[in-house]
Amino acid sequence: MNLTVAPSLSRIHSLHCARCHTPYSPFELQSVSACCQQPLVADYDLHYPPTPAEAIDQADSSMWRYGALLPLLAEANKVTLGEGMTPLLQLPRLGSKYGFSALTLKDEGQNPTGSFKARGLSMAISKAKELGAQGCIIPTAGNAGVAMAAYCARGGLSATVVMPRHTPEAFKEECYWYGAQVELVDGLINDCAARVRQLNAGGELLDISTLKEPYRLEGKKTMGYEIAEQLGWQLPDVLLYPAGGGTGLIGIWKAFQEMKAMGWLAPETALPRMVAVQAENCRPLYDTYFGYQANSLNYNGRPTLANGLAVPRPLGEPLMLDVLRESQGTVVSISEEGMLEGMRELGQQEGLFVAPEGAAVWMAARQLLSTGWLRADERILLLNTGSGQKYMSNVAGRAWA
Ligand SMILES: *Cc1c(COP(=O)(O)O)cnc(C)c1O
Ligand SMILES: [Zn+2]
Repeated sequence: MNLTVAPSLSRIHSLHCARCHTPYSPFELQSVSACCQQPLVADYDLHYPPTPAEAIDQADSSMWRYGALLPLLAEANKVTLGEGMTPLLQLPRLGSKYGFSALTLKDEGQNPTGSFKARGLSMAISKAKELGAQGCIIPTAGNAGVAMAAYCARGGLSATVVMPRHTPEAFKEECYWYGAQVELVDGLINDCAARVRQLNAGGELLDISTLKEPYRLEGKKTMGYEIAEQLGWQLPDVLLYPAGGGTGLIGIWKAFQEMKAMGWLAPETALPRMVAVQAENCRPLYDTYFGYQANSLNYNGRPTLANGLAVPRPLGEPLMLDVLRESQGTVVSISEEGMLEGMRELGQQEGLFVAPEGAAVWMAARQLLSTGWLRADERILLLNTGSGQKYMSNVAGRAWA
């Protein structure tokens, strides 16, 4: 039997409800599951699993090199700006200052539109186009809206972006330059979601909200494939991620499971302990994880410098809790001052101007080392999810403590 796989040929075969596993078709536009109103998750045919050499398109230096494990059916529908394959950077100066022996940062700030949202939106807008959507709408804390506006422009779809009025100007302005309609709302992303339901009551637009369509997750999952490939099919001991809606956390873990099922990981590779990092101002997952509330359905958050973490009621909370439990991970929350301190350290010691979300992740590593949850000799991977540039108006003048 010929098991060679055309690298770009998608092996997707179905979707399932994250709660009850009822199957859904991947060949039509989908939202949340009709059975449980929960996220839909994509499944691939991993029966004769391809090797990395068979499945990965080495000529493609974007996330689309993993096309066999992505849901797009026809190359012609791909909407790309060259997202993914971001560098893994060693942090030797900060490492030796605090005693870490193997400290690495994956710099997602180098993606098109300045954040890792590019991965999810490249994937989601490609599928929207493939399945015949004319226009898309999104409630956003900032970066997802910018990315959606860019990919819709590139794919020839209309874009409506609903974001909090207090979002830094650079996010709104960039959306205008991509030709998007922008609506400003008083409140946080959950208030924007309510406005989206109003604006799209007739359902003409495809709702690209986090985990309300199945494909942003698939784009974010490519971070997991890249981390493994870039480390020679090994994985770090601990991975720290700034969790808002949680697609990255859930997606990276999904990639690890898929690679494990396909036999891609080096023998005896343990999966990393996954750490979700939140802002003290908005830490629903932290409060649920540590038992301060049963769940975040009624959680109220406050704005934070880390816009991407201002997600008070994440739909994916149960899936995030699964990842934390299965990986023996934990949750950390970081103050606003802490994020500024982390931005200063990464800037001054390593030449990285990171988003406050990325700075929070670094501060969480420091905190977990000081409490002994992390050992100094473990291989630590920090995810910096965005560039600091769009946050400039909120952090200007704070480079000195
Ligand atoms: C959106 C965002 C996050 C949170 O991502 P989720 O997938 O919602 O968990 C973190 N950092 C930045 C910079 C973001 O834009
Ligand atoms: Zn269900």
